[in-house]
Amino acid sequence: MDRSKQKQHQQNEKQAASAGDSSVNGHFDGTAKITNRTGLPLAGSGETSGQSSSATESWREERTRSLEDNEMSLPSIAAAYTAILRGLGEDPQRQGLLKTPWRAATAMQFFTKGYQEKIIDVLNDAIFDEDHDEMVIVKDIDMFSMCEHHLVPIFGRVHIGYLPNKRVLGLSKLARIVEIYSRRLQVQERLTKQIAVAITEALQPAGVGVVIEATHMCMVMRGVQKMNSKTVTSTMLGVFREDPKTRDEFLTLIRS
Ligand SMILES: [Zn+2]
Repeated sequence: MDRSKQKQHQQNEKQAASAGDSSVNGHFDGTAKITNRTGLPLAGSGETSGQSSSATESWREERTRSLEDNEMSLPSIAAAYTAILRGLGEDPQRQGLLKTPWRAATAMQFFTKGYQEKIIDVLNDAIFDEDHDEMVIVKDIDMFSMCEHHLVPIFGRVHIGYLPNKRVLGLSKLARIVEIYSRRLQVQERLTKQIAVAITEALQPAGVGVVIEATHMCMVMRGVQKMNSKTVTSTMLGVFREDPKTRDEFLTLIRS
């Protein structure tokens, strides 16, 4: 790694840290590794479960949920939670549960608030022409999502790198892209790819790499009950896919 890249990396780290992200050591230890490299053009990887055509859906065709939609649907979601409580053998009328359906409904809307936002709104005014051609990395972006198969949390960290081609994105916007896609019902493989595709479409960079390390509560609390298992997914596009040196530099930097 040459000095300018080192410097760029340190700057990025500093900026990521000031944006509230923290770095953690040894975060690759004891992980179950699923490598999901996908290149351009965007084709399904064929190795993931629950992969749908929406995996490659462009953010340009997004539809969003409005605050009015939230208000309208809150009573029916709350009623559904009342039915769930009854179905679990609970008494929805007992004191501790009286407000639970409404709280749960409001919380679920918050957990999925990524549906209320569009990537394009985030990108507005945040793309800059810049003659910068060194790798830009923001790592350890905290991520909270919901498994679409079990409706329980997925949480972990996202690492993003890209090699600009005359255009760069405000660094905090990378974390915003993560937020918008993660606050939806997801599978980790699709989340990884959507982040990479959004950056590719916005910046047309020479390449993009996205790595997500996450814990799935559906694995930890049920099923195999592996407390410390982590799932690692990656999407590499452009030179990150084609050039092993670029990819290795990225992977080395996010582990350092
Ligand atoms: Zn699950």
